Amino acid sequence: MSVPKGFVSATHSVLFEDGEDRCSVCTEPLGAEGDDGTEVRGRGLLVWARGEERRYEEPHLCPSCASAIGVSALQRWEIEEDEG
Ligand SMILES: [Zn+2]
Repeated sequence: MSVPKGFVSATHSVLFEDGEDRCSVCTEPLGAEGDDGTEVRGRGLLVWARGEERRYEEPHLCPSCASAIGVSALQRWEIEEDEG
């Protein structure tokens, strides 16, 4: 399938150069999901709206980024609760 001139096409694989899953925050390789079930992977959920359009994305996160984001989200929530 040919791509029209002046049109750039890319898939999410561009973000993970070698097809390896990487953390969306620190780009740390996440490695293969273990068969033994010991691999711990985080996942975030991005939701954004543009006009009528709603988009959902689940970026892969390494365990440390996932917990860092989770903790800061909780702190934010507490701050907003205190203000309200
Ligand atoms: Zn990370």
